[in-house]
Amino acid sequence: MAAIAREEKPMFDVVVIGGGINGTGVARDCALRGLRVALFEKNDLAFGASGNNSGMIHGGVRYLTDHPEVTEQSCRDSGYIQAIAPNLLFRIPFLFPIPNDSRKAAVMLAAVDAFFSFYDRYQPLKHGKPHTRLTPSEVRTLEPGLTTDLAGAITFDEWGTDGHRLCVLNAIDAREHGAKIHVHTEVEALLREEQSDGTRGRVHGVVTRDTLTGKRETTTAKIVINATGAWAPITAALGGESATKVRPGKGIHVCYDRRVSNYAVVSHAIDGRQIFVMPWGNLSWIGTTDDDYFGDLDDMRATTDEVRYLVSGVARVLPSIRDARIIGTTVGARPTLYAYGPTEDELSREHEIVDHGTKDGVAGLYSMIGGKLASFRIFAEEMTDVVAKELGVKSPCTTHTAALPGGDVIVPPRPIAEKFGVPELAVRRLVYRHGSRADAVLGRTSKSRDERAVVCACEPVLECEVRHACREEGARTLEDVARRTRLGLGACGAMRCAHRGAQLVAEENGYPPREAHLLAARFLVERYESRAMAIDGAQAQQEELLAARFGAGGLGFEGLRVREGGRKE
Ligand SMILES: Cc1cc2nc3c(=O)[nH]c(=O)nc-3n(C[C@H](O)[C@H](O)[C@H](O)COP(=O)(O)OP(=O)(O)OC[C@H]3O[C@@H](n4cnc5c(N)ncnc54)[C@H](O)[C@@H]3O)c2cc1C
Repeated sequence: MAAIAREEKPMFDVVVIGGGINGTGVARDCALRGLRVALFEKNDLAFGASGNNSGMIHGGVRYLTDHPEVTEQSCRDSGYIQAIAPNLLFRIPFLFPIPNDSRKAAVMLAAVDAFFSFYDRYQPLKHGKPHTRLTPSEVRTLEPGLTTDLAGAITFDEWGTDGHRLCVLNAIDAREHGAKIHVHTEVEALLREEQSDGTRGRVHGVVTRDTLTGKRETTTAKIVINATGAWAPITAALGGESATKVRPGKGIHVCYDRRVSNYAVVSHAIDGRQIFVMPWGNLSWIGTTDDDYFGDLDDMRATTDEVRYLVSGVARVLPSIRDARIIGTTVGARPTLYAYGPTEDELSREHEIVDHGTKDGVAGLYSMIGGKLASFRIFAEEMTDVVAKELGVKSPCTTHTAALPGGDVIVPPRPIAEKFGVPELAVRRLVYRHGSRADAVLGRTSKSRDERAVVCACEPVLECEVRHACREEGARTLEDVARRTRLGLGACGAMRCAHRGAQLVAEENGYPPREAHLLAARFLVERYESRAMAIDGAQAQQEELLAARFGAGGLGFEGLRVREGGRKE
């Protein structure tokens, strides 16, 4: 914590710490209401839980029995998010199969049927279809890979999104309304006023460090918002007397190289927890775990036993999952509200605003704690209402009606593909991520047709989009590009695109050519490390050969670790 004399005129109204969904969401709301905003993210936008979740903008089905008013609010907000980002949301029809493994199966089927009838009341708010009850033969027609011994199944509807893009679009909109967005910039200290009696007063800014260049700066503001998710207690403590608690819950997903099911399918793990398998783009995910986490939040990894826990649970309804090829894992920490005693699954998913002025006597600092991806908009609105009241700003919230960038109209991909002569599938992906602005991303290729090249064939991603991510969306590393475009996250594990992608990142950011090799190597290592714990047999042997090849080429696994000495490895 640093104590310096308060400036007469702060540079900003609000400084937001953290570039997850809560940080970018509140930065956008504040900027739309005319406040001067600066956001600092120490890694990259959506680096934490916001880019590693199940991506469901769901309707709060877990609250249905005890708090139906929360389900209603969640469904309404899901409807709002669909309206402001129609390109970025997709329907996820779920199957809830009931195994015919006990005399209770028929009762279970009837109970689940009744439960979802109740949920149907709220489906119109989020434009979801009502549930249906399927016979065993109907289930197998829809999903032939399911185990044969079923009592039946229930269908229900949810919505999915790409958490990375949702954060990026919130950040872009905030920037277009005047906010300054800084990625790879860590807040190291909070500034406190010096009081005449020598004690420290209000928080009035932050000291930041660019983690890539080491450059330090001071930024002053009337209010500082701590939106650092599971890191929130560490960040709050920078204020001295200010403190807050979360109970970080580690969650992983396992990613497969193709769609292994037609629908999202609910299963139960060995301990009875609900888990799922879900098609996502070209791939499939299974998830998720929820375990108390006490380790380093900046260096989380899935473990082999977590992977096996999920695979065995999904295999109960989809046996072929055991033969499918794993290409990676994701991992994140839920910033769950603190409680001592309940199991992880029993913890509240509610959110809370901590006013450190009232709680700890550290005025000017607020913490946003808990919440969900699906409730980011309402959480941001509540936080901005508090800020606006304190600063005497009257403008109302508009984030439920104002479209996110590219979300103003739905554009058909085919005419764009024909206009620019690029594969329609690539344009579909571009439209998914950029909505009505896809045309503008491709527009830059009028000057240089080479930029129409497909760089990543698995997803697929065009060269112009990689360049756009660097120039317009703040990408400074290949991982940043992957978060914004999905480059390298497909079936080949980035083997075919890492080097070309890295060249483009180096060129756009003005790095020397040698840096491109390091960017590529670091990305390949990162991809490898995300699947190393999950693979065995022939795949593991193949990976070891590749690792040796990269090592021998001086660009890879061991070489990188030596050169980067002291980094994560
Ligand atoms: C496995 C899993 C599945 C989930 N599934 C769903 C789902 O399907 N639907 C749903 O609604 N919710 C889901 N969630 C919950 C949801 O992802 C989180 O509630 C939400 O993303 C939290 O967002 P956040 O912005 O608070 O935190 P984060 O996204 O973690 O962001 C915090 C950011 O703060 C940055 N930071 C930390 N310290 C500093 C500092 N000193 N300076 C600058 N920056 C800093 C970090 O780098 C990080 O990017 C899931 C979570 C997990 C882990």
